[in-house]
Amino acid sequence: MTDQLWLWILLGVVVVVGGGAALLVPRTRRRRTDHLVDEHVDQDIEQDVEQDVEQGAGTTTVAPPETAVEPAPPALETPEPVAGRLIRLRDRLARSGSPLGARLLSVLSRDHLTEDDWDELEETLLLADIGAGPAEELLDALRTRVRVLGVRDPKTVRDLLREELLKVVDPSLDREVATTGPVGDDGARLPAVVLVVGVNGTGKTTTVGKLARVLVAEDRSVVLGAADTFRAAAADQLQTWGARVGVETVRSDRDGADPAAVAFDAVRRGKAEGTDVVLVDTAGRLQNKAGLMDELGKITRVITREAPLAEVLLVLDATTGQNGLNQARVFGEVAGVTGIVLTKLDGTARGGIVVAVQRELGVPVKLVGLGEGPDDLAPFDPEQFVDGLLG
Ligand code: GDP
Repeated sequence: MTDQLWLWILLGVVVVVGGGAALLVPRTRRRRTDHLVDEHVDQDIEQDVEQDVEQGAGTTTVAPPETAVEPAPPALETPEPVAGRLIRLRDRLARSGSPLGARLLSVLSRDHLTEDDWDELEETLLLADIGAGPAEELLDALRTRVRVLGVRDPKTVRDLLREELLKVVDPSLDREVATTGPVGDDGARLPAVVLVVGVNGTGKTTTVGKLARVLVAEDRSVVLGAADTFRAAAADQLQTWGARVGVETVRSDRDGADPAAVAFDAVRRGKAEGTDVVLVDTAGRLQNKAGLMDELGKITRVITREAPLAEVLLVLDATTGQNGLNQARVFGEVAGVTGIVLTKLDGTARGGIVVAVQRELGVPVKLVGLGEGPDDLAPFDPEQFVDGLLG
């Protein structure tokens, strides 16, 4: 009887100890991988810092990165196809932009347009944030055509306005987001690295998540880099977006880790895996220009040692008007922006900001955010956009 009891106790101990060890194994393994990843990033970052010091860039210390590759669970969601998205979202645009379209059309349909009417048109355009230069261009062209035309039925007026709005939005710009990387020295294709910049709160992380879905819908492979290490929840937020469509996120487990190290690690991961696109989210502290330049400059330098940047997308909140334009100017100067993502167009009657910001930066709006839903990001199409504004 006693022998049997001892046997049972012994068996219990074996099971408990064995189970505990099994639980510990994955942790140990993950740490070890982290350590390896950290080590070579450390070396590279150190070289980068040395280079900085040599070049007198003013960077003195770089905290050791603690990056980890988070495994993605199996794909759970199928993102909506990209074609036709703006058509689906046009109603939202029409609802939010209708004051612009409707007001312009109602004034233009008056029998005899007086100076006051033209002033009202100008005011409407300015209130929609189109900018003084483009507003004047548009009105000059309209005046000439209206004068030549004489009689104007509602359809002709609408067509006229549509044509002139389209001209200022500029359908000739290349709005394709570059998502094919170049071929490297070894003959293998490098990932297309897309750096996403902008002030916090504009919808940067959300945009990176939505863009990952766009790419997944187009059968492209994606790695996300959570280089916004400043905002505590940003990496979790990004990882959640990625996990929903089976996309891996490279992130740091430590708040305030060096964003350049995370960006570097993400690109290196993308390269090792033969990934099509690496999307890098960055922090957008409203800081002074020198600080921003330092941070983005370093991220860019470190990334481009692995692969060239395919795109630098600036995310702007359409509801912020002139303030957004000032931000755009600063980012344009420091980050070499190649395309604009205009978010929250669903919540504003200021659709004219598309025109103003393109003029300000000399780069096209490539994507627009029209809601908080996961598939509410659409490629910008000038014709669909103008039709949306005109309702
Ligand atoms: P970040 O700080 O720039 O990374 O901004 P987030 O991605 O965290 O977004 C800030 C808020 O804006 C979130 O509540 C988003 O859901 C919201 N947001 C982002 N894009 C859009 C959009 O196109 N429309 C609307 N209505 N809200 C958006």
